[in-house]
Amino acid sequence: MTKDPRTLTATEWKALLSPDEYHVLRESGTERPGTGKYLDDESDGAYHCVGCANKLYDAEHKFHSGCGWPSFFQQVEEGALTTLTDTTFGMTRTEMRCAVCDGHLGHIFNDAPHQPGGMRHCVNGTALLFVPRGDDPQAVLDAHRKK
Ligand SMILES: [Zn+2]
Repeated sequence: MTKDPRTLTATEWKALLSPDEYHVLRESGTERPGTGKYLDDESDGAYHCVGCANKLYDAEHKFHSGCGWPSFFQQVEEGALTTLTDTTFGMTRTEMRCAVCDGHLGHIFNDAPHQPGGMRHCVNGTALLFVPRGDDPQAVLDAHRKK
């Protein structure tokens, strides 16, 4: 992407994203459990932000949590995500956003005792773009948007 994604307007985002992607990334929406992409995916590669192609998760860190959303026990590297406190719906949760485009991804919970670090990154599959190992993320994103 040539333009800094943080400067895009709502209209520009709507032109780039599907309605579902827009709702999750730009309106902090949540896909219904069990309905999102990549829930049972075990392919080798990485998961990038569908808003800006920023690399967020390696498939090696994905696990089956049974929660209904794709789950990872850590981000691909420190700084891929930003976190903030979300107090909507009467709960205090840790929200995750893409560090590059500030798109909403999901929430982090500390309820994965069997995973390294014990954390569960509960991510909307809608916010993710799977890139097979060795493929160019921007090319995969461009192909995804032409669909
Ligand atoms: Zn992003």
